[in-house]
Amino acid sequence: MSARQTNCVFCRIIRGDIPSNIVYQDEDVVAFPDINPVTPIHLLIVTRKHIPSLTTMTEDETQLIGKMVVAANKIAKDQGLSEKGYRLTINNGPDAGQIVMHVHMHFMGGRSLVWNH
Ligand code: AMP
Ligand code: ZN
Repeated sequence: MSARQTNCVFCRIIRGDIPSNIVYQDEDVVAFPDINPVTPIHLLIVTRKHIPSLTTMTEDETQLIGKMVVAANKIAKDQGLSEKGYRLTINNGPDAGQIVMHVHMHFMGGRSLVWNH
């Protein structure tokens, strides 16, 4: 395992080194609550594979983005949000405020959201 995977907080959650309430997992992605929720339901859908950012993704790896959307739809069904809706956000790079360098989607819902730049 590389040093970046050893130290990466999301890799540590995936390995079970850091306890988390995993709400969904399959062979490609894992989802768990954001530690600092900004909406009533705020989950992170992360790739099992350690990939630092969208920018470093290979073309093959971008297929994982589609897998994340499939997972989001399943999670929405479980959470009763299929009809109400939800927001998926990927922060990529410094200007977008990406803090954790492991590709992840924020799944946010449970209330009506405003659009804020
Ligand atoms: P960003 O990289 O800007 O998309 O944000 C990373 C997100 O990860 C933030 O919303 C944090 O609250 C969240 N986060 C950081 N550490 C943990 C953790 N140990 N468990 C769950 N969420 C976390
Ligand atoms: Zn990682």
